[in-house]
Order: sequence, then structure tokens, then C-alpha cells
Amino acid sequence: MLKVLKFGGSSLSDSSQFAKVKEIVEYDRAREVVVVSAPGKRKSDDNKITDLLYLIHAHIRYGVAYDTVLTMVRDRFTEIQKECGLSTDIAKVIDETFTKVDKNTSVDFIVSRGECFSAMLMAEYLGYEFVDAADWLRFGYDGRVDAEASEAKLKELKGIYRHIVTPGFYGTFPNGEVHVFPRGGSDITGALAAAYLDADVYENWTDVSGILMVDPRIVKDPKTIARVTYDELRELSYMGASVLHEDTVFPVRRKDIPVNIRNTNDPEDPGTIIRENFEDELEEENERFITGIAGKRNFSIINVYKSRIGEAKIGLLRQVLELFDRYGIPVEQIPSGVDSFSVVFPSESIKTRKHELMHELEEFEEIDSCDLTEGISLIAIVGRQMAYRTGISGKIFKALGDNRINIRTIEQGADEINIMIGVYNEDFERAVRVLYESFAK
Ligand code: ASP
Repeated sequence: MLKVLKFGGSSLSDSSQFAKVKEIVEYDRAREVVVVSAPGKRKSDDNKITDLLYLIHAHIRYGVAYDTVLTMVRDRFTEIQKECGLSTDIAKVIDETFTKVDKNTSVDFIVSRGECFSAMLMAEYLGYEFVDAADWLRFGYDGRVDAEASEAKLKELKGIYRHIVTPGFYGTFPNGEVHVFPRGGSDITGALAAAYLDADVYENWTDVSGILMVDPRIVKDPKTIARVTYDELRELSYMGASVLHEDTVFPVRRKDIPVNIRNTNDPEDPGTIIRENFEDELEEENERFITGIAGKRNFSIINVYKSRIGEAKIGLLRQVLELFDRYGIPVEQIPSGVDSFSVVFPSESIKTRKHELMHELEEFEEIDSCDLTEGISLIAIVGRQMAYRTGISGKIFKALGDNRINIRTIEQGADEINIMIGVYNEDFERAVRVLYESFAK
């Protein structure tokens, strides 16, 4: 059994967080590979080390003295070093690094140092080997990861050391120059390491106990999703839920390595597991058929009417959609009736041009009339357990109806894992709460 763990910045913000990480790693012998971010904020008005490093780079670029910012960086690391009782002279490492830095030093090198220093300290603290990401994570000059070279190198190093701490966020070009992923990129490093080493699980440790079933700003203390598939995750994040970006975990997805999102501040909580599918899953009878609920405000609906439209409908629909295309309006849904159809889209996409668009539509000879409704919210009710089961939408509509919430639009994808409804903006939060209380709790 092999587990690859990645700890985010908030899990490493000070020595007490370092201590929690140590306890977590030592709790399970399979936790052999640890990927770390740079220390993050200790409280909301604090600074992330990576942000300070970007600031240092800006100072260097404009030839401004940066001692004050460098002191902030040095102090953060020396405090962790001292409070954890470590012998690595991190202040010396930092000072030596920055005496070599000048105007020609790349921004990527400078900002990557947060992860590097963090990994050096964590390696000593855990008694693991510090393996520099520069020694295994290789990029091609096109900025893409050279999977073959990176995998071979990491496997080789893992064969030598077994227990490893490695920095997230960066790697090197073939000429040895440092290159970083986009911000938050340590998640990618962790996923790559897990995939290359064929880990049994990729544990992503952060400051929340996994993915929540619903936005906590709408429902107080919502439950965590225990298991979620990538398809469900996509539906939820598309509709606004803030979850781990699926591109991030692509390397582990391809190898079907489960991703487990865990909370460093609450290690007992099993968190959320993300997988392609859960074949072993028992169909829990009824009630919990919902995985999560997500929604977005401010959509508009244009309704188009034409009596006895019959077969001409497709042609008209095409013309209308061409018009939307010309305006660059992303179409969200196209619910349709016998003599009418509607197009649902984000209101902001026609903010200044709505009269123009309506006017053009009215000019269509084939149309009897059309109108515009604004202030619609879309809510996605997502759950793989909903698929091919009867009565689910009935239950959803009944719950909303019982609470006098008018449903404006309805849509269900053919895979049946998502029912999307449209309600008026003023009913949005209440609808989400009713759905959560009725089916998710
Ligand atoms: N430290 C980097 C950032 O703040 C990378 C990471 O934490 O994943 O974006």
C-alpha cells in the first residue's frame, strides 16, 4: 500500500500546522510520499509566502530594495524551524539563495523557493528524504510536463529513498531552469507523483473536510459529500460549486487512483473520495439519491412562440440559435413546447444589447411573438444514484411545490445524473435550502 499526500499552504502555515502534518503522516505507514506547498496564511489578514515571493520579484525587477519583504519570508521559515526544533539552518539557505539572485533571475525560480524551503524543513521534521522537484519533474520547452522522463526519475528516486518529501508547484526545463505550474499547482505535482508511483490513493490535505453538498453561505454547516464521481464533480463545479479543478487531478483520474480530500485540522473526518465510478456501491434505499446541489443566479429566458409550427420548428430553432451565436451568447438550456421553445442564457451576456437582440427576433417572419424573462436562477441537483430510478423528479418537484416555489424551467441530461431547474432569483436560496433539507440531510 502506498499513499501520496499533498498538503496545501494553510496546512503548513506555522509550526503547529507542521506538527499536525507530522502526526497525520506518522499515523499511517503507507504515507510514504509527501508533497508540500509553501506556507500559507495563518489568519485572514496574513500573507502567503508565495505572494511575498512574487512581491520580491517585482522589487528586483524595478531595482527596489526588498529587505523588508525578505525578512518577512525569512522570519516565517526560521520560526517554523526553531519551534519544530529543527537543525536545518534555513535562514542561511534563504540568504545564500538570495545573494545569488539578480535582475536576470526568473520569476519562476524566485516564487518556487517557498515550496523548496518548506519541503526542506518538512523532510527533516518527518525524517524523510528531501527530494527536490527540480530532480524529477521535467517540463518540455512547450511548458508541458515530460511524463516519461519525470516518471522514470521519480521512480528511480523512490527506489533509493522510499520515504520522500518533495516540493509542489515547480519542475525544470531540459536546461535545468525552473518552471512553475499555474497558482495552486502543487495539487498537480501531488497528482503526478501519485500517478507515476501507482499510489493506492492520492490524499489531498487542505483546510476543509472535503467537498460540501451545498454552498455553506446558503445552508449552514452542510454535510460533506462522502463519495463523488468525476462526472458529478463536473456538473457541480460547472454550476458554481468551488471544488478541486478536474484538470488538476487528470493524471490520477487516468489511472483510476482515488483522490481523497481531507482536512488537516480534522484528520478523523474521512473527507471526500473522488473516483470515476463506485461499482461496489450498494444502492442505499431511497432518500439519499442526491450527491450535491449547486446553483447560479442571473439567467434570462427568451421565449419564442409560433402556432402550428410543426416541422418548421427545427429551421426556426436553427435561425434563432444562429442569432445567439452571432451575439456570442452562451446557451445554457433550450426547453421546448409544442408551439414554442425557450432559450436560457446568462443575463450578463446580453447586458447592453438586449433590446437589439429582441428587435432582431421580432423581425423574424416565422415568429408570432417572443418575450424576455430576466432574474432566473438555475439549480443543479446532482446525483449518480438518481440515474434510472423512478420517482426522483416527482419528489423534487413536490418538495418545491409544497413550499410554493414556482419552477420556471426543467432539464434532465440523458445520463440522468443531473436535474436542472430554473426558479426566480428571489426563490433561489429558499429553493436550495428546501432541496437540501428534503433530500440531502
Ligand atoms: N504556493 C503556490 C501558490 O500559492 C502553489 C500551491 O500552493 O499550490 O499558488
